Amino acid sequence: MTAMPIQRHIDLTPYNTFAVAAVANYFAPVAGRDDLRAVLDGAGDRSRLILGGGSNILFTRDFDGLVIKNEIRGIRVVREDHDHAWVRVGAGEDWDGFVRWTLRHRLYGLENLASIPGAVGASPIQNIGAYGVEVGDCLEAVETIDLTSGAPRCYQASECALGYRTSIFKQPPRDRYFITAVTFRLSKTARLVTRYADVARAIEGLDPADLDAEMLSDVIRHIRRSKLPDPDELGNAGSFFKNPLVAPDQFAALVAGHGDMPHFSEPDGPVKLAAGWLIEQCGWKGRRVGACGVYPRQALILVNYGGARGEEILALARDIAASVKSRFGIDLETEPRII
Ligand code: NAP
Repeated sequence: MTAMPIQRHIDLTPYNTFAVAAVANYFAPVAGRDDLRAVLDGAGDRSRLILGGGSNILFTRDFDGLVIKNEIRGIRVVREDHDHAWVRVGAGEDWDGFVRWTLRHRLYGLENLASIPGAVGASPIQNIGAYGVEVGDCLEAVETIDLTSGAPRCYQASECALGYRTSIFKQPPRDRYFITAVTFRLSKTARLVTRYADVARAIEGLDPADLDAEMLSDVIRHIRRSKLPDPDELGNAGSFFKNPLVAPDQFAALVAGHGDMPHFSEPDGPVKLAAGWLIEQCGWKGRRVGACGVYPRQALILVNYGGARGEEILALARDIAASVKSRFGIDLETEPRII
């Protein structure tokens, strides 16, 4: 494989779904381990930033170091038994393209995660989740290269410290491990998760025996299209804030003042609140501030109406978090990585 040269002064607008302008001093697309080795040999001690689909990042400044763009491809069944198949996927594959691949091959478990923008390599970092399913439910292993030593290291799912939209790969030092491939354990029999209200409403009246994974995936695509902006049309990075988890006693105090507050709890666990609802209550839904704003159909999503700078979007996010803190006493945590 011929190593790609390291490029200079690259505009990152096409490489982040917020579509904000930022310049990478050095930029290297990497399509395999040999490319990566060559890039690291030529990179010296420059600071590094690993980029996949750019769907969970907000650039608030130019990046002086080296951006390594993961473009490692390939989808392969590596093992199979009567009930399951283990599928190894290059980290640079498009996530939704992979979900469609699983359905074409009658392998199940990821159908609720249809239509999420981004790359496969980012999916365990964030432990992406939607409509009652998380990547961690099907994750087998994550292959990485340690960028400090160049050595490969494979993490089994149990070693990834997966949590609510988090994993070991989100902990410092960030950008030490370059994810090259992810292996998923998928089922040959679909077990459909339909408990989220939007999904249950959309399939109401349908005989459960008539619902299959492809249909459920189409239902979810339809719901997402109706509520979420397409990053190709309107810059955004999906949910900008995580849903806060609060202790049961804090929740009891909150609900005394706000009886209609949506909440979800596991027995003996913290109570999950809907960040979008909290933001909406503070009057932000649909508000536009300069070239950015809060999406009118989903208050969790900040959008770039065109030409917004990263700092402007971040300032809006901070104002939103401050009003939620002042009204409810809750600290909102941002989901995308801020550079
Ligand atoms: P929604 O249905 O309006 O519900 C608001 C929040 O309540 C959701 O974030 C969800 O938490 C939680 N929730 C709803 N029903 C639940 C249930 N039966 N059990 C436990 N928790 C429940 O949510 P939405 O904003 O339209 O999003 C729908 C799904 O897509 C959610 O799972 C959401 O996380 C996911 N999504 C993710 C992103 C992203 O960028 N990460 C962007 C858009 C949507 P959970 O978030 O824990 O599911």
